[in-house]
Amino acid sequence: MTNPLYDALFAPHLGKQTPFIHVPDGQTLTHDAFLRMASKIAGALTEAGLVAGDRLALQVEKSPEALAVYAACVQKGIIFLPLNTAYTAVELEYFIDNSGAKLVICDPSNADSIAQITKRTGAALMTLDASGAGSLMDAASTQPETTETVERSDDDLAAFLYTSGTTGRSKGAMLSQNNLLSNAEVLKDYWGFSKDDVLLHALPIFHTHGLFVASNIMLLSGGAMIFMRAFNPDTILTQMPNATSMMGVPTFYTRLLDHDGFSKESAAHMRLFISGSAPMLSETHEQFEARTGQRILERYGMTETNMNTSNPYEGNRKAGTVGLPLPGVEVKVCDPESGAELAQGEIGVLEVRGPNVFQGYWQMPEKTAEELRKDGFFITGDLGMIDDDGYVQIVGRGKDLIISGGYNIYPKEIELVIDDQPGVKESAVIGVPHPDFGESPVAVVVPEGDGPDIDQITEACHAALARFKHPRKILICDALPRNTMGKVQKNALRDEHSALFA
Ligand code: ATP
Ligand code: MG
Repeated sequence: MTNPLYDALFAPHLGKQTPFIHVPDGQTLTHDAFLRMASKIAGALTEAGLVAGDRLALQVEKSPEALAVYAACVQKGIIFLPLNTAYTAVELEYFIDNSGAKLVICDPSNADSIAQITKRTGAALMTLDASGAGSLMDAASTQPETTETVERSDDDLAAFLYTSGTTGRSKGAMLSQNNLLSNAEVLKDYWGFSKDDVLLHALPIFHTHGLFVASNIMLLSGGAMIFMRAFNPDTILTQMPNATSMMGVPTFYTRLLDHDGFSKESAAHMRLFISGSAPMLSETHEQFEARTGQRILERYGMTETNMNTSNPYEGNRKAGTVGLPLPGVEVKVCDPESGAELAQGEIGVLEVRGPNVFQGYWQMPEKTAEELRKDGFFITGDLGMIDDDGYVQIVGRGKDLIISGGYNIYPKEIELVIDDQPGVKESAVIGVPHPDFGESPVAVVVPEGDGPDIDQITEACHAALARFKHPRKILICDALPRNTMGKVQKNALRDEHSALFA
């Protein structure tokens, strides 16, 4: 009997009394205890009538128990579908309906409203709260500590992971056992993870970064995780001397840098800081190195593919790039219209192919056909180029490209000029409908310190950029709208300012 993902990530840890999950001010769970808990949950899921291929939707606070539901699903071949805790009941209806989930596990506080949905769809409903209690664990408590592992093959689906919904409605990416396993194996080796590693884990576990990149790598390597429900710089600093590594979104790093207590000494025990999910400013990279003497390793991935490229562990970690294609992953830059591969150094749409690339969007055959080519290349929708050394640079998302008077404008080029000006914390440049030009670039600027001098920003743009790229308007705002993964929601900015030139 084989179940490749379970056999690689979970089975080897049975009986191991090594620490797996530390919860600050809470419990420490050994690998063995985690697996036994997962098997009890697996028993409860079977008792609830779930069989291999069924979908289980989970919308709960981060806890070791929530991660054990993932392990239980893998063991029983149930497709795991974790959902963002920020979704409201109205939003959840789409996911529950769309996925055809047979069981929904939610926080007890949401059970009444979600019951209205499950009553209609026929799904069963169980609860799990932040402390790991609820009807799921009640049902698990009477189950045995070991259970049969269901046979699966590489191509069987392990999870539906919904995209972050940054550019539109979230899509359910179907990920196979081998999509997940192949990527975890590559990343573990690429980043040098071993059983001696302790990862600071402050990411949510409903997203690919915290769930698959972080947890799968740590399971594969046999190391431990310090599990925090949210990113709190004080807790991170307290825990850093116990840890060797951290995976974070760029805002984790800017928030650490904003903390006076963060120093070279704080980071002395750490061997690796990894960033991804959203672009990191070169400035953050440089400030981090100046403060700690360590260089952040930036990588690039997405829900549909797990990780595609990474800066090297040994070797040059280039700020402003997302590094080199991972072993086994092909990356090419293509013309957005024709799909033809472009010459090295040109900007186009990034396409990727490899064992990491997903099986398609659940029940969206047209969308799948639009984005997944027959030859296996996935059209990421991200614009980028490959530099002379083979490093990939992301320029932005295709949907954020501004076309003004027929000219292509890459917002990032303008943002880099603005971000360099004194008094600017960060900026976002968006295309706003314009009666003459179709769209015109507008800059939304977040001030810091005494704030920026708008005339100076204008002059800097005029000096550095062709006339058609000059922002037509420069607006000030307190903070850019971001989703839970720290991604700037340009959709929201475009909506807010859509009538600027009307
Ligand atoms: P949706 O597809 O629903 O609009 P989303 O693309 O934000 O949402 P995710 O799969 O969570 O959903 O995010 C993947 C995207 O995140 C990538 O396509 C890319 O645009 C961005 N991204 C990830 N890592 C990086 C990085 N290091 N630098 C720049 N962008 C990154
Ligand atoms: Mg996307």
